Amino acid sequence: MADPAAQTTIKVVCRFRPLNKSELARGDKYIPTFQGDDCVQIAGKPYYFDRVFQSNTTQVQFYNAVAQQIVRDVLGGYNGTIFAYGQTSSGKTHTMEGDLHDPEMMGIIPRIVQDIFNYIYSMDENLEFHIKVSYFEIYLDKIKDCLDVSKINLSVHEDKNRVPYVKGCTERFVSTPEEVMDAIDEGKNNRHVAVTNMNEHSSRSHSIFLINIKQENSQTGQKFTGKLYLVDLAGSEKVGKTGAEGTVLDEAKMINKSLSSLGNVISALAEGSSYVPYRDSKMTRILQDSLGGNCRTTMVICCSPSAFNDAETRSTLLFGQRAK
Ligand code: ADP
Ligand code: MG
Repeated sequence: MADPAAQTTIKVVCRFRPLNKSELARGDKYIPTFQGDDCVQIAGKPYYFDRVFQSNTTQVQFYNAVAQQIVRDVLGGYNGTIFAYGQTSSGKTHTMEGDLHDPEMMGIIPRIVQDIFNYIYSMDENLEFHIKVSYFEIYLDKIKDCLDVSKINLSVHEDKNRVPYVKGCTERFVSTPEEVMDAIDEGKNNRHVAVTNMNEHSSRSHSIFLINIKQENSQTGQKFTGKLYLVDLAGSEKVGKTGAEGTVLDEAKMINKSLSSLGNVISALAEGSSYVPYRDSKMTRILQDSLGGNCRTTMVICCSPSAFNDAETRSTLLFGQRAK
């Protein structure tokens, strides 16, 4: 086969949340209309994706349609990345995490964890699995370890195979789904403790959860590894040009820069371009060996349906279309 980038599987799906209480109370108009399962229209303009999910899509429906196959592929030794992109309160965290401890409301991360362990428990004894997880965030272009609060400015290095990684980041070995969920709870608590307003903070930082699965067949000696990055991106909303200063302005600049370099990388991959600008941001460097090439990449475009968010929703949809 020719160019490996040409084989890249990049999927872009779009999910609309329902109107929330305050939008309903305000009488906001519900603006999207849906056509088939791959098109949404806003004011008559159509936007096409691999799939479009309407507001009544349940967590399990979304998981089965979007994440299940990637988990199979990662267990088969591929690397993958799932991103949630959208303005603050568009449903990114609902989609990625949801309610971690409620079987119905769990998002894709806890379902992935369950799926991985169910697979392991179903395999024969000659297969040995070594699973480790890391959890970090990128805030103001600094990488912070959510599993060790003393590590607040980690750097990106390359290993002997020239694969970038976050040097010194905690790798937690886990052997049950409960241990993974404990690590997530611990990381979330650590993030909370470090800041005064978690909602504000999480909308200004990228949260990255990494699951690394190594398999070894004790009879044949065959070994392979699959990695899955699960990324809850910072809010994509534009910060008002006037009024923003100091940290808020710095945050906005960093977020714009990192989201636009992500967009550039994804669209270069989607076009099969020979040059992919991975080195333009920390996030794309870290994700380099899990984006493009032989990897499974899915971008989830999260949208509000309210007329109040019309402009942001359109720019979110356009970002998603660039990747197609
Ligand atoms: P974000 O992470 O993008 O800022 P959240 O995921 O926190 O947004 O969602 C904002 C609010 O909307 C939360 O209360 C969440 O539970 C709710 N919500 C988001 N998506 C859905 C959905 N598909 N169905 C029901 N409620 C949702
Ligand atoms: Mg969030």
